[in-house]
Amino acid sequence: MADKTIFSEILDGNIPCDEVYKDELCLAFRDIQPQAPVHILIIPNKAIPSLREAQEKDSQILGHLLLVAAKIAEKEGLEAWRTIINTGAEAGQTVFHLHVHVIGGRALTWPPG
Ligand code: AMP
Repeated sequence: MADKTIFSEILDGNIPCDEVYKDELCLAFRDIQPQAPVHILIIPNKAIPSLREAQEKDSQILGHLLLVAAKIAEKEGLEAWRTIINTGAEAGQTVFHLHVHVIGGRALTWPPG
């Protein structure tokens, strides 16, 4: 069993969040340290540590997270946005509960750092 992360605590209601969307599979809330005018995190209810540990049986959850990302982006009025899943510390992952970043509201450069 993986260690509890801050995102599990948010899911359990032990730590507050600025919620923007919730359904039976996931929760979305505003990032506490936004990197753009819109910066939202979408997390599955299931505590998958990262994309590395995701399995075939998680396909529905993974697909759902992306569809929710698009729904949220539209609700936020974004014409363009970036979805990011950091996997592993060297790629910038700091919370080991899989999450999708939705970032937008300003011009985004490429390649990312
Ligand atoms: P990552 O670096 O990809 O693991 O993303 C983790 C994100 O979680 C970072 O952008 C943090 O700013 C964000 N974060 C950490 N703690 C909280 C929190 N309590 N509420 C909202 N966002 C958080």
